Amino acid sequence: MGKEMEVRENFSKTKTMELPRNVVIGHDALLEVEKVCDNLKLGKTALLVVDETTKKVAGDAVASLLSDAGYTVEDFIIKEADKETIEEVKTVSVENGTSFLLGVGGGRPIDVAKCASTNAGLPFLSVPTAASHDGIVSSRASIKSDNGRESIVAQSPMAVIMDTYVISQSPHKLLAAGCGDIISNSTAVKDWLLARNLKNEYYSSYAASLAEMTAHLLLERADSIKPKLEESAWFVAKALVSSGVAMSIAGTSRPASGSEHLFSHALDNISKPPALHGEQCGVGTIMMMYLHGGDWGRIRNGLLAVGAPTSARGMDLPEDDIIEALVTAHKVNKDRYTILGDEGLTRDAAENLARTTRVI
Ligand SMILES: [Zn+2]
Repeated sequence: MGKEMEVRENFSKTKTMELPRNVVIGHDALLEVEKVCDNLKLGKTALLVVDETTKKVAGDAVASLLSDAGYTVEDFIIKEADKETIEEVKTVSVENGTSFLLGVGGGRPIDVAKCASTNAGLPFLSVPTAASHDGIVSSRASIKSDNGRESIVAQSPMAVIMDTYVISQSPHKLLAAGCGDIISNSTAVKDWLLARNLKNEYYSSYAASLAEMTAHLLLERADSIKPKLEESAWFVAKALVSSGVAMSIAGTSRPASGSEHLFSHALDNISKPPALHGEQCGVGTIMMMYLHGGDWGRIRNGLLAVGAPTSARGMDLPEDDIIEALVTAHKVNKDRYTILGDEGLTRDAAENLARTTRVI
């Protein structure tokens, strides 16, 4: 055979990119829930996963909108995002003949709906009531385990409905944490490039550029992120979608999760209780940017501008926890090569790093 066959033999790359089909963002986006469900032809029996707070904030509204439109809607109120709860929600969805799930909440209800729907082989919709981390758009879930929290891979939501009014009314601390999670792309991308160069790891320039640009745009606009302002909720929500898409293109969380996430995961296992995911990742980004020789001051100023913490005290964590997390972070996920290397930091180096960057 001629040239064509040669090309076929030489090119063997295949990749699946799992993206949400519909993303609705904006004022009163909740009112679109019926239209979104109808368009996606998800069936008529919905299971709503909520917690006590998010049930009142948005869950009840979603339930009545869908009920009025002829859907059968059941509630499942969760207390924690752990394996037992996921199993219970899966069992209920199978027993009820549920055709799709909705996770309505900041993080935990969405994580539970994501994992339970994956296990039950059903689709799910993500309806965030706060914009505190990129898990509201991605296929990743943070689940409570015996020694802290673990990050597991499930499915991406079929649709994401982000009501900017609802999000703007959530505590500002959550939105600021979302900013921290987005800003962390700055170091995640640097770690990814390092892993490509030193370990020949798969790397996607498209995904890396998108993730980096998202963090860059947020840092540029950091001064305009203010409490209770719907425009701020809009900007952060869109940035979280953009980060989620970068991960979907990459087929890995690499573009949005590097050494700063390892630091945050280490804190999750050390601190009782830890701070918010995005807060810890933001502080981690300051320190990891220093290790990369980058402009850590810009990261710190950006976090300060959005009202996110930049220190142990700001996160209400003991300084010792920061040091312990820094020296153990490289062990959290051995498959994720980062600036922390295979050996991690010595205790002295960790202390110097935290002091120089004013984290302690
Ligand atoms: Zn994150």
